[in-house]
Amino acid sequence: TSSLFNHNDESLLLITAWGQQDTPLSDAESWKSRKKHVEEVASLYGHDTSFIKSNYSEFLNWPVVNFLSPELPAWRIYAVDGIGWAGLVAPIFFAKNCSALYIASANSWYYSYIDCINPFVDNSIRFGNYRVLHDQFECTRLDKALFIARACEKKGFKKPHIKVCQFTSTFGDINCCACKKCLLTMLELCAAGANHREYGFNVSLATAVKRSMHLLRRPIDYEPLWHFMDIQLTIKRNIKKYSRSTIAKLTPFLKRNLLKVQIRNTEQIVKSKVDWNDFSKIVPSVVIPSDLLDEKWEVERRASAALNRPWSL
Ligand SMILES: [Zn+2]
Repeated sequence: TSSLFNHNDESLLLITAWGQQDTPLSDAESWKSRKKHVEEVASLYGHDTSFIKSNYSEFLNWPVVNFLSPELPAWRIYAVDGIGWAGLVAPIFFAKNCSALYIASANSWYYSYIDCINPFVDNSIRFGNYRVLHDQFECTRLDKALFIARACEKKGFKKPHIKVCQFTSTFGDINCCACKKCLLTMLELCAAGANHREYGFNVSLATAVKRSMHLLRRPIDYEPLWHFMDIQLTIKRNIKKYSRSTIAKLTPFLKRNLLKVQIRNTEQIVKSKVDWNDFSKIVPSVVIPSDLLDEKWEVERRASAALNRPWSL
């Protein structure tokens, strides 16, 4: 959604594939619901759509490819996403005379843990006269929530139903409001001063906080913990901007010492840490922005401290 808003003044073709991990070819109902949602979004913001049916995900023998190399712990996010899209859209690009494929970033410069979804990989792909562009890598998840909220508030964009839920096969295009992606997005919208209920999340802020506290009592992956830290630090830094009742509801989250949350994929994360400057030497056309924010590096400093602390804390 953030990437769509970022390029809303361009003529966009929203391309979605039936056959991705969260829209399996065997599940026609999920696909119907996803297609309808994309059509509604395109109509809401004045863009066109194109849909692909492909077994590009399902023909892979996952139990084999996932164990091909210890350096690729999950084949999909280390070898397929992004690159796979370039192949999928090629026929559409020729047919519709498109010029560039925007791939919405999943992470940012501040989160320097490598998979195949980053500007150095995506921006290196060329086919015919077409380009692939990794979009908004300067933004964290929270920055994107801020960007969407501001676009709706200041530029008059219609508020979108933001579909983020990781349980699409169960909930279709409704957000479950209980998984890590739903919880992060609700708190991010709150941090952005927006009302998450207006963006497709049908529970109260108090419930979102309570469920987040429950999630954070158990071991979680490093990436969602990183984003919870980004939210907590940003709200604390801007605490005067929030109403008393909002702060009261957020208090359990703001008081939670996130450095003590158990991280379940420490070994993999430590191995995947990179210095983006090394990649710049390989792909010099991708320039690391010079105006990256200290306050965001602080998130990474704190989060990586959580990686290094003993389990017994
Ligand atoms: Zn969910």
